[in-house]
Amino acid sequence: MTDRSIKSIVIVGGGTAGWMAASLLVRVLRGTGVAITLVEAPDIGTVGVGEATIPPILDFLRLAEVDLGAFVQATQATYKLGIKFQDWLRLGQSYWHPFGAFGVSIDRRPFPQVWHKARAQGLSLSVPEFSLAAALGEAGRFARPDPGAPGPQAGLRYALHFDAALVACVLRDHATARGVRRLEREVTGAVLRRDGFVEALSLKEGGTLAADLFIDCSGFRGLLIEQALGVGYEDWSRWLPCDRAIAVPTAHSRPPAPYTLATAQSAGWRWTIPLRHRVGNGYVYASGAIDDAAAEAELLAAVGEPLAEPRRLRFVAGRRKAFWSRNVVALGLASGFLEPLESTSIHLVCSGLYKLLDHFPDLDFAPANIAVYNRTLTDEYETFRDFIVLHYCATRRDDTAFWRERGAAVPDSLAQRLELYRACGRADARPGELFTDLSWFYVFEGMGVRPRAYDPLVDASDFRQVRDLLPQLAGQVSDIVARSPSHAAFLATSPSAAA
Ligand SMILES: Cc1cc2nc3c(=O)[nH]c(=O)nc-3n(C[C@H](O)[C@H](O)[C@H](O)COP(=O)(O)OP(=O)(O)OC[C@H]3O[C@@H](n4cnc5c(N)ncnc54)[C@H](O)[C@@H]3O)c2cc1C
Repeated sequence: MTDRSIKSIVIVGGGTAGWMAASLLVRVLRGTGVAITLVEAPDIGTVGVGEATIPPILDFLRLAEVDLGAFVQATQATYKLGIKFQDWLRLGQSYWHPFGAFGVSIDRRPFPQVWHKARAQGLSLSVPEFSLAAALGEAGRFARPDPGAPGPQAGLRYALHFDAALVACVLRDHATARGVRRLEREVTGAVLRRDGFVEALSLKEGGTLAADLFIDCSGFRGLLIEQALGVGYEDWSRWLPCDRAIAVPTAHSRPPAPYTLATAQSAGWRWTIPLRHRVGNGYVYASGAIDDAAAEAELLAAVGEPLAEPRRLRFVAGRRKAFWSRNVVALGLASGFLEPLESTSIHLVCSGLYKLLDHFPDLDFAPANIAVYNRTLTDEYETFRDFIVLHYCATRRDDTAFWRERGAAVPDSLAQRLELYRACGRADARPGELFTDLSWFYVFEGMGVRPRAYDPLVDASDFRQVRDLLPQLAGQVSDIVARSPSHAAFLATSPSAAA
């Protein structure tokens, strides 16, 4: 530690983002003497509906030294093998975005390219035949990844569905037990230095709270990043017009599925997230296309008797123009919002934290360092935005005005990616990006976007061998599915076994 080192951090907000930040920072900064305080307002609630995750959440929990088995039990978690999309291309059609490996590469050619050639040769293939995660999901079964296995089980990956309110409690206990100081106070504003940096927070009950670095996890309001520093918001609602959600829990009417179900509705889509003790449901919709009462009626007609009053939320798709300004870093809903179609929000909290560690400042807060942080997170946000818009823009639904309008506008970056894929079946995901070429393939494929040509090098392989290999690969998948327990049985007999 030097004289220019950060010595104190204050996190504003005790939702999922705040306690994730506290849990990771207290672990990573252990031994440095940096004091971490989290302040949360007892009378301002959390959003608390973030219930579906993606596989990197497990790495985050490991890094934060959270005991996975205990976490799974304490948060009523179930296992998630991917997302099934229902009625997006047209009513009655469904497709998968599963986790983990898919087929095998042949002569270093990715399996989707082999797939495109197979289709050109008249073969009919389906994703669950070659994706173990999708096949298990379709069968309502669950298997653990087996890194040493010769077949597809080695490449299996999974994530969690969990009760978001319980997650905040578990991480709060975890972080405070390791030395994070928790203050229950309402922050009323920020005291700024002459150079615009935040010197301290003003507290409703009187007094101030000073720190070197502030992490704004105050939710949509963006107490520091927006209200104090006024960085501005980039509005993406011209591409993603959904701006409201209604969430309701229901009891299980069938065994819990090991996947998130995203069902397209008349003016948006509905999530179905099975937890151990209940099912989380919600309708994400565009208020310009349906009014709140009609949306609630449509949701309740689909999900049945609610266990609690429906919860209403409002948002605007987009992002802060800067995620990090001066000595304030925004995480979670304070940093921006993308509808939870691909469970990216909690992941963006992890990603923002990792990038913060990669660019951890000293008291100089070098602008060039901050600029790189903002640029890399902007790239990530924009790629996630494009990926979500893709789920809508290729729809062939024309049953409501909402769906008829979906292809009207797409970001230029997505238009370029669509053109590339249509030309040659390549998606051009960059190394290290969350959504790999394979993820893009699943959604292109599911939304009926077909390439005109496939990778010419696939023709270098002997296609008779490929024809012989395809049934073998599908057989490996179906064998594992046949000997795997149901997801419900897995949860009942071995609550923390996958962890
Ligand atoms: C409809 C919907 C569905 C979602 N589904 C998913 C999903 O399936 N998967 C996923 O990854 N993400 C999902 N998300 C996003 C996810 O909920 C959030 O990313 C996550 O909950 C993080 O929220 P947060 O902690 O940033 O904010 P919040 O939960 O809003 O917490 C804000 C905190 O700030 C505190 N605070 C606010 N003002 C003050 C003040 N003045 N003084 C002191 N404290 C203050 C509050 O008390 C609270 O503790 C969803 C979001 C919505 C809206």
